[in-house]
Amino acid sequence: MNVTRDIASTRAALAAARQAGRPIALVPTMGALHAGHRSLIEAARRDAGCVVVSIFVNPTQFGPRDDYVRYPHDESGDLKQCEEAGVDLVFFPPVEAMYEKDAVTKVNVGRLTETLCGPFRPGHFDGVTTVVNTLFNIVQPDVAYFGQKDAQQLAIIKRMVRDLRMPVRIVACPTVREPDGLAISSRNENLSDAQRRQAASLYGALCDAGDRIRGGERDAAVVTREMQRIITEAGPARVDYISVVDPETMQPVANVAAPVLVALAVHIGATRLIDNLRVDPGVRSP
Ligand code: AMP
Repeated sequence: MNVTRDIASTRAALAAARQAGRPIALVPTMGALHAGHRSLIEAARRDAGCVVVSIFVNPTQFGPRDDYVRYPHDESGDLKQCEEAGVDLVFFPPVEAMYEKDAVTKVNVGRLTETLCGPFRPGHFDGVTTVVNTLFNIVQPDVAYFGQKDAQQLAIIKRMVRDLRMPVRIVACPTVREPDGLAISSRNENLSDAQRRQAASLYGALCDAGDRIRGGERDAAVVTREMQRIITEAGPARVDYISVVDPETMQPVANVAAPVLVALAVHIGATRLIDNLRVDPGVRSP
């Protein structure tokens, strides 16, 4: 497995694969790899290209009150997991390799960034799309893998690639969950035992929403009110949002008539957790 930290050696390392006609697959991550990341790497491996994992904790997607300085780092553990997963190249750049000191260019995906997490994390999605662009320009992948866990991020990246005619295919991978349904995230490590038990209520609320919608409920306000009840009954929680939105445009839906994304962001203690579920109202619950 190759490990590179600058643009020139990354491009040189990938030139041979490109010349041999091996499709290049990119899995962008911020490190502290877990089973969710591994599922993306496995999907890339199955598609049998040259698999590149980037590990970069991107400062521009963290706000002043976010946890950039607290974000976990585990370089040797990450490299070991990549090696075991059969990754061909890990791109592990320092900040200087990704950003010019006086960089001013940003990519903004308009209305898609203004709902759900947008108002709570100003500038976050511009940071994400700008760094994903930079990664695409350095690695020039044929295909890139993203988790449905971050559904708004995924929708934004798909739209950016479509709007800017970028020659890369985006593959969405399902959310990997703990046995009690909690979506796996490096932030779960910050929960106390009691908070960790309480956090299972988020997936419980999403499943309740799915059951209600498939059972015929069409009023999004009824669905989200019930979710709020389930979450707050489980313990002290601060809700940023619980919303029903269109899965492509991320705009709120009042009456469910087509597949929707039910999404939430909830603080349990100092930890902000996000999760979501796609629900098709046409598939009725038994
Ligand atoms: P991150 O390192 O948090 O930026 O995540 C890197 C990629 O892994 C993103 O595309 C995430 O959506 C994806 N990811 C994170 N957690 C999960 C999970 N539990 N299941 C599936 N994908 C995930």
